[in-house]
Amino acid sequence: MKETNLKICYCCFSLYKFNEAEIFNCPVCFEEQNQSQYIDYLYTSRKIVRYGYQYRDHYEKDFEINPEFSWRYHLVELNEIYNFIALAISNTIVGNIAWEGVKTLIKKIKNDPLIIEIQDDEFKKFLEDEKEQEKFVKYIHEFRNEKMNTHPKVLEAIVDEIETHEKSERLMQTPQIKEIIARLEKMEKLPKLKSDKPKKGKKK
Ligand SMILES: [Zn+2]
Repeated sequence: MKETNLKICYCCFSLYKFNEAEIFNCPVCFEEQNQSQYIDYLYTSRKIVRYGYQYRDHYEKDFEINPEFSWRYHLVELNEIYNFIALAISNTIVGNIAWEGVKTLIKKIKNDPLIIEIQDDEFKKFLEDEKEQEKFVKYIHEFRNEKMNTHPKVLEAIVDEIETHEKSERLMQTPQIKEIIARLEKMEKLPKLKSDKPKKGKKK
């Protein structure tokens, strides 16, 4: 995943630089935020964006080309900024913000000086494409509400992706694999591996 050092305030949607403290305040609205809760929200958002939007979009396009498709991908994760937007859209504190709210948020993001640091062509295109943004919002809501309005063939592919991910997460947690990774890391043959699971807090 392409990590950014940004955070988004899920109350006023301001972006700001990463802060490691357990309790921190948004520099704009001063709302208190909690690191563990934030990590939890972001972890959920990542899953929603990946399976509810990214994979769905790919497989729907494949379905249009060939309704009998049965191939699977491993897609490179989208920029973290998509997860921020999904977090804002689906956050329980803010509630489900309507399309107008999302447009305001996108406008805000576009004018944010910290966004200039994000060198991601796909995201820059997304910021200019209102139709794609509308689709994003719709897909995020549908995945969250577990009502994906798509063809069963596409659904099957998405479920496969989720299962594959869960299997590999479980495998990474087995003592044998952990030991091998630790040994390799010691030998400096591998960069420190990171699980995308939150370190603290409960999983949603
Ligand atoms: Zn704020």
